[in-house]
Amino acid sequence: MFRITETVRFCYGHRLMEYVGKCARLHGHNARVEIVLEAGRLDPRGFVMDFDQLEATARRWIDDTLDHRLFLRHDDPLCAVLEAQGEVFVKLPHNPTAEHFAEMIFRHLAREGLPVVRVRFHETDTSVAEYAPTP
Ligand SMILES: [Zn+2]
Repeated sequence: MFRITETVRFCYGHRLMEYVGKCARLHGHNARVEIVLEAGRLDPRGFVMDFDQLEATARRWIDDTLDHRLFLRHDDPLCAVLEAQGEVFVKLPHNPTAEHFAEMIFRHLAREGLPVVRVRFHETDTSVAEYAPTP
């Protein structure tokens, strides 16, 4: 079994609802995402997947959909204020936690056909959430 890991960084803002702690305040993070791919056999070039292709595929989507965006739960009172101002933000059906970011990124890459087996989402240097589907 072969595994490769690609790291992508991006910046985002959020705040959590029904939560007491720093992430209850509107703020931002510099996220680091580790994307782990797996293959039982290498392709004819000797790759699980070309790092350049993986980096371009993952980074393009992250840049286009996640980077420098504000993520709020759908019932956050800020949503109405920002919508009235015409501000760009992303409304989610759940709290924008590191766990949900890890799952969101995993599901997108899997839909794109990448042999992803795990996404580790570093919200900070010391706090990491991981998503891997149950076998
Ligand atoms: Zn936070």
